[in-house]
Amino acid sequence: MANETKKSQKILIVGGGTAGWMAANLFAVHWPDMEICLLESSDIGIIGVGEGSTPHLKFFFDEVGIEESEWMPRCNATYKNGISFVDWSAIPGFNHYFHPFPAQTDDIFTVPAFFSSINARMQGHNANAHPDHYFLETYITAKHCGPIPTENFPFGVAYGYHFDSGLLGQYLAEKAISRGVKRVIGTVTEVILNPRGELASVRLDDDSFLAADFFVDCSGFKSLLLQGALKTRYTSFKENLFNNAAVVMPTPMYGIIPPETKSTALSHGWAWKIPLTTRYGNGYVYSADYITPEQAEMELRQHLGLLESDVTARHLQMKVGRVEKHWEKNCVAVGLAQGFIEPLEATALALSFNTLSAFIKCYEKGGYSNQFEDAFNNEINARFDGVRDYIVCHYKVNQRRDTPYWKDNAANTHVSETLAQIIHFWHRGGDFAKNLYMNNLVGSYQPKSWACLLAGYGVFPPLRSDEHNAPAPSLPDMVQLGDFIRRCGLNFSAHNQLLDHIHRRPA
Ligand SMILES: Cc1cc2nc3c(=O)[nH]c(=O)nc-3n(C[C@H](O)[C@H](O)[C@H](O)COP(=O)(O)OP(=O)(O)OC[C@H]3O[C@@H](n4cnc5c(N)ncnc54)[C@H](O)[C@@H]3O)c2cc1C
Repeated sequence: MANETKKSQKILIVGGGTAGWMAANLFAVHWPDMEICLLESSDIGIIGVGEGSTPHLKFFFDEVGIEESEWMPRCNATYKNGISFVDWSAIPGFNHYFHPFPAQTDDIFTVPAFFSSINARMQGHNANAHPDHYFLETYITAKHCGPIPTENFPFGVAYGYHFDSGLLGQYLAEKAISRGVKRVIGTVTEVILNPRGELASVRLDDDSFLAADFFVDCSGFKSLLLQGALKTRYTSFKENLFNNAAVVMPTPMYGIIPPETKSTALSHGWAWKIPLTTRYGNGYVYSADYITPEQAEMELRQHLGLLESDVTARHLQMKVGRVEKHWEKNCVAVGLAQGFIEPLEATALALSFNTLSAFIKCYEKGGYSNQFEDAFNNEINARFDGVRDYIVCHYKVNQRRDTPYWKDNAANTHVSETLAQIIHFWHRGGDFAKNLYMNNLVGSYQPKSWACLLAGYGVFPPLRSDEHNAPAPSLPDMVQLGDFIRRCGLNFSAHNQLLDHIHRRPA
């Protein structure tokens, strides 16, 4: 594509799910002079799941200038300090761990203390290396507190949200339209290419055409433009990640609203429990190669105490993998259209935001040309692969052996070289964090997150039998650490109280 000024450009976003409307808002804020149009079908629905986020959703709202007091009440949203993992390990004392988001207190005290204990435990010393004893967000979550401290506490903690995905899409649509984005309702029946093989226009079900200079494929798993019309190749992660289906159903919300997502391992996958202000969203992510949808639904009902209930379940299929090029010719794909890694760490919207931010930067830097297409694709592929490796690790090192599913996951040899090295450095002992940095293994997840996972499952060597003769390891003072965390925690208020405040404040 030739260098063009942004004023001459017309962008067409195809798809009005969360990805499409996030794109519309970001483009409207960054490129107010461009003509931006979003096409969505009234016949084809959105996926309608995806109700937990990482801190990236906050970065998105900050970038488009929308306050929590404005959007959270509209989307029944709650705060999220991290994810609790339950029953992923059968090792006594390790049936639960919490994966917290980063906090500024980590670097001062808690992460170095955690790694000292891990180093000692990896040498076989009887050190307390369970992650649940080390982090401020784990502490405030156990106390049912939200992540916003009082003003006199000078350290920030990162946090995410839980929200109703349908309401979030509607809210983002309103905002984008108010910023000048044009919404068109119609279903694409044909995609037309120009003689150079680029996208030229789409034909709609009423036989009209929509043309544009640049296209954004947010059409969900179908990927009508990038994988469909441009035939961009797709790399499946099926061999790395077995789960390919989900069953979803709500349960009522009452009482204390937990500031965390709960992820409980079941017989052939795991169940999420996501608290909104009005209900819990629940789902069982499983492999249909091991159990049928009916068996999965029964197991989820049993897990939720809904065996006698007539609440309707929704069944979904998941395609897990990514395209090889997220940006090709005059098309970039965002959201499910570019790929999907199963939702264990709720990373899909973060990847959409990363994609959009990187695209905006590269497109502008290249003078609205394709100059930085390759750099962009490499960056986004690395992000997807980094998230994939972290998710694969949850299955590869799982400590359950109760079904063939868990045994096959533990025995799976389809792990990337990067993940194999990370696991190697864990078992080798020594300075795990330093080894990850020195060997260029820190990507989408920090050493703290890797260590929470591995230590949280209890992946440790046996304790030394000669401990009393062995050199004394350097261990943190757990009383001092506990006191530090407790006193930091005094600056956080109850999650319900925080929500009352946010949800009642007029927008
Ligand atoms: C089981 C499950 C759990 C998940 N959990 C999480 C989570 O916790 N956190 C997270 O971040 N993400 C999660 N995700 C992913 C998340 O749901 C999606 O990333 C997010 O909803 C964005 O979807 P989308 O906009 O790409 O696609 P969709 O919501 O599917 O939207 C596709 C759009 O394309 C339009 N369209 C399709 N075909 C046509 C056509 N022919 N003509 C015109 N328009 C068309 C549709 O009308 C729709 O508007 C989960 C996904 C699954 C499957």
